[in-house]
Order: sequence, then structure tokens, then C-alpha cells
Amino acid sequence: MAQKMYKVDSKTGKITPTKRTCPRCEKGTYMAEHFDRFACGRCGYTEFKRKDNK
Ligand SMILES: [Zn+2]
Repeated sequence: MAQKMYKVDSKTGKITPTKRTCPRCEKGTYMAEHFDRFACGRCGYTEFKRKDNK
């Protein structure tokens, strides 16, 4: 898989994870990203994105 797990900012060098793990499932269970939320395909857990940091 060529998909990157982390996004590195070239200016600050800050690493931002592009994947979100599900708090309900075991470690390594990633949630699918949607335009306004993250959803776990395994248990159905949904976490909405905050819009106040734009
Ligand atoms: Zn889950």
C-alpha cells in the first residue's frame, strides 16, 4: 500500500497522522475519513470533526 500514514509539514516538520484509530476497537483499527467525520467500519463508531480550527 502506497498510502501514507502520516503527513509531514515541510515548514515546521510537524507530523500529523492522516489516519484515526477507533477507540472502541483494538489497536490498529483505522477509521474511514469522510468530509465531516470519521467512521469505523467495524463497530460503526462515528467521530465528528471539529470545525473550529479552520
Ligand atoms: Zn470500531
